[in-house]
Amino acid sequence: IDADPPLHKLLEAVKDGVQTPRTGKSIVYWMRMGDLRISDNRALSLASAHAKERDIPLIVLFLLSPQDYVAHDRGPRRIDFTLRNLASIKGSLAALHIPLHTSTQPNRRAVPHEFVSFLERVNALTFYANIEYEVDELRRDLQVCDAAKSQGISAKFVHDKCVVEPGVVVTGANNKTYAVYTPYQKLWLTKLNADIPHYLEDCPAPHANSESVRDSPELSGLFDSLVPESVPGFELDAADRAKMEEVWPAGETKAQDILKRFISTKSRSCQLAAVDPLAAGAQDSEKRSRIAVYDSERDRADRDTTSRISPYLAAGVLSARACVRATMSGTALATGGKVDGGRTTGIGRWVQEIAWRDFYNCILAGYPRVSMGRPFLEKYANVRWEGPPVEDTAYADSSPPTSPVDLALAEANIEKWKSGHTGFPIVDAAMRCLNEMGWVHNRMRMICAMFLVKDLMIDWRVGEKYFMEKLIDGDLASNNGGWQWSASTGVDPCPYFRIFNPYLQSAKADPTGDFIRHYVPELAAVRGPDLHKPSASIANKLGYPLPIVKHDEARDRAIRRFKEPGTA
Ligand code: FAD
Repeated sequence: IDADPPLHKLLEAVKDGVQTPRTGKSIVYWMRMGDLRISDNRALSLASAHAKERDIPLIVLFLLSPQDYVAHDRGPRRIDFTLRNLASIKGSLAALHIPLHTSTQPNRRAVPHEFVSFLERVNALTFYANIEYEVDELRRDLQVCDAAKSQGISAKFVHDKCVVEPGVVVTGANNKTYAVYTPYQKLWLTKLNADIPHYLEDCPAPHANSESVRDSPELSGLFDSLVPESVPGFELDAADRAKMEEVWPAGETKAQDILKRFISTKSRSCQLAAVDPLAAGAQDSEKRSRIAVYDSERDRADRDTTSRISPYLAAGVLSARACVRATMSGTALATGGKVDGGRTTGIGRWVQEIAWRDFYNCILAGYPRVSMGRPFLEKYANVRWEGPPVEDTAYADSSPPTSPVDLALAEANIEKWKSGHTGFPIVDAAMRCLNEMGWVHNRMRMICAMFLVKDLMIDWRVGEKYFMEKLIDGDLASNNGGWQWSASTGVDPCPYFRIFNPYLQSAKADPTGDFIRHYVPELAAVRGPDLHKPSASIANKLGYPLPIVKHDEARDRAIRRFKEPGTA
């Protein structure tokens, strides 16, 4: 499958065009889970321009597909965030007399058929969509493309998710997707800076439809479809929903505010309270904004040092282009200034993170097996993990063998990891933050992931799935990339013998201890080094669990496992 990735096939199919085009009377934009915005949306913008040129209406469709959500481990928080953003978009589009039609398709195999029936129903001339890089989404889109073309409807799939799309930054030797980040990032920056207007263009907002669309017998009904409040099987309980709404408000304006807050205001406490970016007092006069000190502060979990824009990027409420544009002053953009992507400035370091996001999307597109439950480094497919065998995903063709050692203990350890009761304060604080807020700081994700796969020797796919269930920013490319990095099975991974010491990591990432004290109230009164590594007597006195493994022994076991015959 890596030899002939479906992205390549889709792009070929789109190029082919339609033999006998029909005389369509509308243009359709198919909005998906990753492009929930109106501004700077490439497919929407092109669709709108086409509709205007033809003087025919633009229609927006969103298909809810619960079986896809199951197949991709998409969690209720991510679904709820999708629906909240859709409701906001529906209002904005209605003001432009553009209908947003939503419908639910319970059978994922029927999506291509359902979609093409819709195109026929609205007598579409052409449909537009932004490309999704997950392998089965690409396969579905290929079917859609073929089916539409057979009806004389042309299909336009365009890149939008990344700043520099997959296929541009490739190795000089054989045009392959880079499997090492540093050379990838260097070339990524060179390409970007060589053609800033192209890569950072702000796609024009859609034009309004004529008001008469509202009275059209064929189309007026489309304005009536309501965005559902929830998808059966993915409901959030009321308290969780209220929390998510408070911390992660929906809508493009909120996303832009959060970005502004990162670019222009100073870091405060680590507590993920309501992210109300421009609340009175939050805009202080300090010169050193969060982004300015990002290079030195970004690994601090006890401060609010990163942008927290990931839920909005994952859902496409904000474009990645807009993030990079925001790092350049208006004059720099207008006068041919360059994007700073270097290691020595806050801005440069932050732009490099956006490049990591692009990198993992390129991996997904170029090496589709990673989204089929396979390790990027095939040589680690047979690592002996503890715990129950991981059920094959719909796409995986095998599971690594499981050691027979104390299955029940491994299962109990997984539960303690999930709930934040491992006896390692930094791991517990991070897991409780994830469970409560739907988001946790990057360094904390790395510590928790490394702890699960190396200290507990649990298959990385168990953790990958759990993160997807809880994260509001759950994104296959970045989540898979992060998990496989930590498990040493991935592209450009952490080497298997470089295992985080959770106690040292804790002291570095949470030097004040504010993060642990906030999320592990049992330890709220503890100060100094005891907070990172409580003694048995302190733990017993405070009702905090004792460590479930001895880190040094666990580390040695992990290294042994990665060296076993048939593995390395
Ligand atoms: P900032 O530090 O402000 O970075 C800005 C943006 O750059 C982020 O919003 C994100 O889009 C991108 N970015 C930053 N770091 C990374 C990275 N390491 N890899 C890819 N993109 C990055 N990110 C997700 O968006 N969704 C996930 O499901 C996800 N799962 C992860 C799982 C693990 C085990 C690990 C180690 C990392 C994961 N990440 C994931 C990457 C990263 O942790 C988050 O993007 C980041 O913590 C989001 O916070 P922020 O917006 O404040 O980031």
